[in-house]
Order: sequence, then C-alpha cells, then structure tokens
Amino acid sequence: MMKDLAEKFPILKEMQKGREVVWINPDKVPFDESIKDCELSIKDIEDAQARLQRFAPFIMRCFPETRDKGGLIESTLTDIPSMKERIDQKYGSGLEGRLLLKQDSHLAIAGSVKARGGIYEVLKHTEDLAVAQGMLSTEDDYACLAEQKFRKFFEQYTVQVGSTGNLGMSIGVMSAAIGYQVIVHMSADAKQWKKDLLRSRGVTVLEYESDYSEAVKHGRRLSDEDPKSYFVDDENSRTLFLGYAVAAKRLTAQLEERKITVDRDHPLFVYIPCGVGGAPGGITFGLKHIFGDHVHCFFVEPAQAPCMLTGMVTGLHNRISVQEIGLSGRTHADGLAVGRPSGFVGNVMTPMLSGEFTVQDAKLYDYMRDLLEAEDIFLEPSACAAFQGVITMNQRAEIKKYLEKHGLTDKMKDAAHIVWATGGSLVPEEVREEYKNTYLDSGDDVYKIHHSGD
Ligand SMILES: *Cc1c(COP(=O)(O)O)cnc(C)c1O
Repeated sequence: MMKDLAEKFPILKEMQKGREVVWINPDKVPFDESIKDCELSIKDIEDAQARLQRFAPFIMRCFPETRDKGGLIESTLTDIPSMKERIDQKYGSGLEGRLLLKQDSHLAIAGSVKARGGIYEVLKHTEDLAVAQGMLSTEDDYACLAEQKFRKFFEQYTVQVGSTGNLGMSIGVMSAAIGYQVIVHMSADAKQWKKDLLRSRGVTVLEYESDYSEAVKHGRRLSDEDPKSYFVDDENSRTLFLGYAVAAKRLTAQLEERKITVDRDHPLFVYIPCGVGGAPGGITFGLKHIFGDHVHCFFVEPAQAPCMLTGMVTGLHNRISVQEIGLSGRTHADGLAVGRPSGFVGNVMTPMLSGEFTVQDAKLYDYMRDLLEAEDIFLEPSACAAFQGVITMNQRAEIKKYLEKHGLTDKMKDAAHIVWATGGSLVPEEVREEYKNTYLDSGDDVYKIHHSGD
C-alpha cells in the first residue's frame, strides 16, 4: 500500500525518511464554505463558554490560583521581540510582523493546553450527572459542588482516560477535585514525573509498554465494563474539542488589548503543536469562526510522529498510522507522540487548515534553550515544536506560494504570528535541568531543509 500512496503523494517519501517537511493543504476552502457540512457550530462553542462560566465559582473555590481571573482558566498572550531577533540572527528566519507567544504552558491547574479540553470535559460530565440526579440546576451557584454531599455522590463514579501525560494530568487533577475515582492509562512515552505527580493526587496510573493508541484501547475497554465509569475519548470527543475551541473567543479580547487588528490587511498566523489533533483542531476551529479567512492556522508535528499530516495527505485520517509509512512514532515530544490521528478532527480540519510543518526532535531542545535565553520563559520540548513554523516559513517555497495565492506577500510586515506554547510550567526543576542539557545528535540530514515533491 505504501508504494502506491508514495507514488500518489510524493511528500510521503520525504516523511518516510524522517525529514522535515512543509505541507500546504490543497483542500482548504473559504471559511463560509468550510463549515457547510460541519456537525458543530459557533453555538456549540458559545454553549461551552457559558458552561465554563457557570463552573467559575467552583473552580475559584477549589483552585485559589484562578481567583485573579475570576475562576476562568486562561493564559496570557505575550510579545516576544527578543526571541524574534534571536531566531533571525541564529536561523535567518527573516520573519516579518509581530511575534507573540500564547502561554497555555502556564495555564492554571494542569500547566498545559489540556487544561482547556480535559478540564472542560470533566466539568460537563459533572454537570450532566448532577442535573440528571436532580441535585443541581444550571441556575445554581456551582460553588456548592465543593460541598460534602456532592463529593459523596461523585465518589461512586469513575473517570478514565488514555494519555501520553498531559491529558491525564488535567483530567486527573480536576476529577480528583470533584471527588471521582480516577484511572489514567499511560503510554510508554509518558514521563515519570507526570506519573508521580498524578499518583500523589490519589490518581490510579496504569502503565503500558505500548504506544498511545493501545493505552486508549485498553482504557476504553476497562471503562466500558463498568456502568459507573466514564471514558474521556481523546480521539473522538466533541466535548474536548469544544473546550479547546473556547480559547479563540477569549483570544479576541487579548488581541484587542494589545491593539492587534486582524483583517484583510493584517493577517494572523497561528502555529500549534499537534498530537492526536483535538487541541490544535479545537483551537483552529474556534479561531476560524472568529477571524474567518484572515486567520491562517498551521499544525506542527514531530518528524517521527506526523500522524495528522499522514492522515490529511492521504485522506485516510484515522485509517492510517505513521508506522504504516515506515516511521517509528517515537519522539522526545511526549505530548505529540501519537501514531494515529483523530478521524473526527481530520475531517473537520480538511477544509480549514492552512498546512503543516514537521520538526526534528533535536531542534525542540534548541528552540527551548533559545526561548529561555531570549525571553526567560520555559516550555517543555513538545511545546517548542510550534517555533518550527515561524523559524522556517520564510525559507520555504511552499509558503511563499501560499502567501502569493492569498495576496498576502506585501501584507506580511503587518502580520501577527502566534506561537501556541502548549505546556511546561509543571515540569520539575531537575527535569528542566536535564532538558536544558539535552543535545540530540542531529546529523547533517536533519538540519538541511528538504523540499517536498513538487
Ligand atoms: C496534548 C498536547 C498537544 C497536542 O494536543 P492533541 O490534542 O494531542 O493534538 C500539544 N502540546 C502538548 C504539550 C500536549 O500535551
């Protein structure tokens, strides 16, 4: 099968060798057209936003660190001019416009982008259960959920999830706060400190030798056997997706505060690290609903685990894995170590996504050190993947063509670029030290930029 596919889609030959590629999505259409057959709409995003608002008093009560944001779990948008200068000098990025960092790495409670989707799904499940039981009405002050009678009620239920690490952290911590029993099924790529942290919160962590998809499969089966257990399905969950999408609504106000306009003459470019696809997909879905054709979203994946790209290029989505094109699926970017993408997300993204970049593991550590030195901000290696976009875009013929096609070439000096930093603030000090001193053997092949197919 691979041979036929590679003939049809030459970029697969580059990917197969573990090389870095840039891919422009040939199926992207104008925004109005892209949402025609979509099962989700702006109403669903607004519904999610309203639900998070209802839970704000409860969140504020359980997690005092959210008090200054009124119980909303939100991150800052930060200008990073020194990083812009650094990537220009060090990598010749030649990036035009303003460079910003969306610091989901520092989101309260879970320290990663998963604090959006994961926590939202636990809260939605909680509301569903309590309302069905007649214990709660959507008019109530949800701070009451911290009371003993609610904890007692939720203690009879279990929440389970498969995770490479960060999703488990957000589901685990929030579920434990509500009172649920929690079981997190962790793949081989999950870092030890994440398992330790979860166990310290009373979460049961089951470890698997296999990759993420296997951990999910086992977790789902175990959960299905128990009628009082709820499985958070990272690959198919519409709820998770909508939790992520709320980010876009809140970004609007942050852009306004910084006097950043997004319109025909001021394009917005967003780069988001991608694993199974839920987080970057949900964020993109939200952003497109707000900024339409003026926002250009790119995913970034590890060169050894580009599952969403493999699915998008071939149109096979979750019916193909990176192993089937000859890649290992193993990567230092634990948050992105996924071999098979979400078919649901792939389908929603097909008419919306601008394109994808892949990046070698060695560079994640370099970008991590660059940001730390230039801006004194620490991100975990997975989260640094997004820098691949802003660093290489000006060196790629594919991007040049994209900009020309959309009439953007002379507008780039007025563009804003948002690198979506997806995790890092909970990484323990000793692990940070280890990361800072990690230099992977890159080899000549790795640092050379390869052009795809055409
Ligand atoms: C999970 C994760 C992502 C990607 O999210 P998906 O929903 O798996 O695509 C990106 N970065 C970090 C740090 C993550 O933990």
